[in-house]
Amino acid sequence: MFRPVLAKMLPYTPGEQPAPGKCVKLNTNENPYPPPPAVIDAICSAAKGPLNRYPDPMANSFRIAAANALGLPGPEWILAGNGSDDILTILVRGFVGEGQRLRLPYPSYILYRTLADIQGAAWEQVPFQDGWKLPAAFGEADDDVRLVFLPNPNSPSGTIVSPAEVAKIAESLSCPLVVDEAYADFADTNCLDLVQKNDRIMVTRTLSKSYGLAGMRFGFLVAQPQVISELSKIKDSYNCDALAIAAATAAMGCSEWLAEICIKMNATRDRMATKLAEIGFDVTPSHANFVWCQHPTADHKAIYEFLKSNQILVRYMDFPTWGDGLRISVGTDDQIDACLMMIERAL
Ligand SMILES: *Cc1c(COP(=O)(O)O)cnc(C)c1O
Repeated sequence: MFRPVLAKMLPYTPGEQPAPGKCVKLNTNENPYPPPPAVIDAICSAAKGPLNRYPDPMANSFRIAAANALGLPGPEWILAGNGSDDILTILVRGFVGEGQRLRLPYPSYILYRTLADIQGAAWEQVPFQDGWKLPAAFGEADDDVRLVFLPNPNSPSGTIVSPAEVAKIAESLSCPLVVDEAYADFADTNCLDLVQKNDRIMVTRTLSKSYGLAGMRFGFLVAQPQVISELSKIKDSYNCDALAIAAATAAMGCSEWLAEICIKMNATRDRMATKLAEIGFDVTPSHANFVWCQHPTADHKAIYEFLKSNQILVRYMDFPTWGDGLRISVGTDDQIDACLMMIERAL
């Protein structure tokens, strides 16, 4: 019954989502803290609003608020999505045809490959060099490559490529470059300014990580207005629901809350990284709300299993030809202390 590409395709496996309250959850880079109170209020008011009516197809209240918060020229620079995964899907459908190719660094976000597979497109992975540097091949022009994804900061490493280097890569490519900034709120730099200088640079953002709204599903794209209007032909007519639009619009007004939560989480992250190094891990310096660590001798899978049997969930990741390790999300200080204690016990 199905298109042949489905038979060949491996499904994307999201991080485990156990029943709430049962465990210390450090496996999917969610915010351990609740979203800003103004967001909860906005959701409650929206729930009393006219839910019998369809939502605004373009989520204009959100676009106006986001353009303001990010210092963009106007709402026409923004496309709202049902999570940034929705935006990534729209981008792949917009730029990569059957038989064409998508490029991504390796190791990075595996979902890009799944999106190419669904499209009947191919993907090529360009391995990071030592120290998570991108090789020149990542920016090489190639007529078959129609879209390049760069998670920045990257997952699982938490490393970041400077805006200057991103601009250079975009200039050498012959296709659009999408900078997936799911974790940019935790970093010191981002590529929003580049979007205004180059219509082939696009930035995706999500409210799932820094804003503590993974359960609401809201993300967005920043690109030049002509790109946004072309891509909006592809999206589902009502891709964002009324409650999510209300939540996301309110969230854009919470810049002080955001700054504070990021400072707090980055402090917890740095403390966790220091301690992991003390107990023998190679820790990659992170600009995101998680830490990638590898132990020179211990069995990462066994540590993951031991933690799990003690109700602490981290992400064990194995990248064929590259290696494996643990990606640990930033939790509350108490959660990180519990996790570190259990890791020491595992060792
Ligand atoms: C979490 C994550 C996303 C997905 O964000 P949603 O808005 O929850 O769909 C996208 N890209 C990267 C690199 C991520 O880690």
